[in-house]
Amino acid sequence: MLNNIYAVNKETKENYYYNYRNCDTRPFTFVRFAFPVGIMNLDSPVGSLPMIGPVYQKRLEKLEIRSIKNLIYHIPARYLDFREKSLISRLQIGDTVTIKGNIDSLKNLYTRSGKKLQLAQISDTSGKIDVIWFNQPFLIKTLKERETHSFSGKVGWFGRKKAMISPLIDTEGIVPIYPETYGISSKWLKSRIKTAYQLAGEGIKEYLPKTYGFMDLPTSIKEIHFPNEPENARKARQRLAFDELLSLQITNLKRKLAWQKNHPVYKLEIKKEEINKFIDRLPFKLTGSQEKVIDEIITDFKKPYPMNRLLEGDVGSGKTVVAATAAFIAFLNGCQSIIMAPTQILAQQHFDTLNSLLQPFKVRISLITSSISKSDLGRTDIFVGTHSLIHQKLNMDKVSLVVIDEQHKFGVEQREHLVKRVGQKNISPHVLTMTATPIPRTVALTFYGDLDLSTLNEIPKGRQKITTWIVPKEKREGAYAWINSQISNLNSQIFIVCPLIEESGAETLKDIKSVTNEFINLKKIFKEKGLGLLHGKLKLEEKNKVIDDFRNKKLDILVATPVVEVGIDIPNATIMVIEASDRFGLAQLHQLRGRVGRSDKKSYCLLFYQNESEKSKARLSAMEEGISGFELAELDLKLRGPGEIFGLKQSGIPELKIASWTDIILIKKAKEVAEALTSK
Ligand code: ADP
Ligand code: MG
Repeated sequence: MLNNIYAVNKETKENYYYNYRNCDTRPFTFVRFAFPVGIMNLDSPVGSLPMIGPVYQKRLEKLEIRSIKNLIYHIPARYLDFREKSLISRLQIGDTVTIKGNIDSLKNLYTRSGKKLQLAQISDTSGKIDVIWFNQPFLIKTLKERETHSFSGKVGWFGRKKAMISPLIDTEGIVPIYPETYGISSKWLKSRIKTAYQLAGEGIKEYLPKTYGFMDLPTSIKEIHFPNEPENARKARQRLAFDELLSLQITNLKRKLAWQKNHPVYKLEIKKEEINKFIDRLPFKLTGSQEKVIDEIITDFKKPYPMNRLLEGDVGSGKTVVAATAAFIAFLNGCQSIIMAPTQILAQQHFDTLNSLLQPFKVRISLITSSISKSDLGRTDIFVGTHSLIHQKLNMDKVSLVVIDEQHKFGVEQREHLVKRVGQKNISPHVLTMTATPIPRTVALTFYGDLDLSTLNEIPKGRQKITTWIVPKEKREGAYAWINSQISNLNSQIFIVCPLIEESGAETLKDIKSVTNEFINLKKIFKEKGLGLLHGKLKLEEKNKVIDDFRNKKLDILVATPVVEVGIDIPNATIMVIEASDRFGLAQLHQLRGRVGRSDKKSYCLLFYQNESEKSKARLSAMEEGISGFELAELDLKLRGPGEIFGLKQSGIPELKIASWTDIILIKKAKEVAEALTSK
């Protein structure tokens, strides 16, 4: 067994590194290396550092620190600034400050319960104050009367007197506070990082040309951990944030370049005349935005490599027909398409929509469910289904287009799996991914930088603004009465959405219970009306029946969990009621609200809420302003951070460690630099 010990010769201040071997015959053999030993580099395991044994190594793993590099890149969350000294006479109860003064007196005290306290009186030119510690008798030995020291801590009451309670002694400068874990303190981290930096810091090399104007990398690493000035820490953080974004961008660009080496499975010819026939037969005129995106797709089809495009379009902007057009082009070439949706409900709806749009052209469409088998199907031009598509042994021999709807609901692997399954080595289908999650452009450009981006930023004509009301508790009854009259007088149809209890992303039994209870409750309130209940745990037939009944106006009210969020299109529904709306992200609320206002009828959205705080109400009030999904997403990004915008972590968009998604300027710059660096 080989082991390392680290030691310092107190006289010469030399650092030594001992490497000892434990053998049976000879008890210990010491091999002495002069410091630095040069056996360490950034990629060495943290365990090779002095004073980091297996126990610490395990603990560090909880912070995802495995290598020396990981340790060096463990960035402080904040700093405590001990440089500024406060005058004793100015101290107020509750202040956390540093004072510097003379120890006038110092003694142990015993409380009635027998506990030991240490009491000192400290004075500076302005005044004096008592300082106490609890049960630290060794302080009496380490501190001496008439010495000057600094003390950092909180001012509180000690009996009836102002006192500084349990301060740190002689903590100087700016002290980094790190993300910690059990058994790993910031103080310990700082000391280990210092050693790591001394032993392996040489490996950190600048790679960016000076012209970009950032603090250089080695300095940044040093300044982020051991800053002399807060300004240096800020510059260092900016540089490291930039590096983080840049590395994401470069990864994406490389992926993009690799994709462009692929060849399309089948060359798709653009048969203009026939495409126009299809477009002319649509029940509506395409928006300018839809036309533009269809053109972008057609341009992609003409390229020597397959399309890989992300279509971002606000709810109701009409993405389905864009996908249908692309699938129609494939069909005209004798090729198959696959359309994958995240829920069975949505797959069913797409199946119906595509059938109504494409049947006149004799396109054969199959809805794939988990129970269908190959023999059930005849020749198919378009497969529609959920992720079960991936696993079915279907006759997909001529698939040239894969459409992934509501792509944020799928994992990266699920998407890649499907694409790989269809393609072969260096041959890929064209891929169109679609999302209604209005991901802020900056985020999309960074995170989906390998995809080409199209946006549908126009809502079809004739849509009216959805009037949105935030409804306080005391108006709930009034709201119900109003809904009742809307149903009676105008045959309005209503969604009532209850939130999920746990933010786990998946419905739990608790959620089902709570939505079922609410359903029972609402049935009492809307006695004469038809109510249906929809949640994810229903069987497929049950789901379809409820939705069909609602679509066919047999039901007035559909009570649901947020499963309705994704894509459901029932144009006659005009009122969306959301319970505990403050628990949703704005973009998610926007998506839910997008279930209504899908025709020329006047639509409404009623937001009930639980949290009465002004901040929470102010956030919701953005919903009343009639701003676009993209703007709401940007706003939520500012107010709640990225984790929340995308609802849950389903989006697969990671939390950045150092940079922030709101730092638009830095994100843009990282993109530019990535392009400059990879084009060389
Ligand atoms: P989303 O982008 O949210 O997936 P859909 O594709 O479901 O939107 O379309 C929403 C509704 O708008 C559908 O009922 C669809 O038929 C209709 N629609 C789509 N494009 C247009 C258009 N150009 N003009 C009018 N209605 C349209
Ligand atoms: Mg859709």
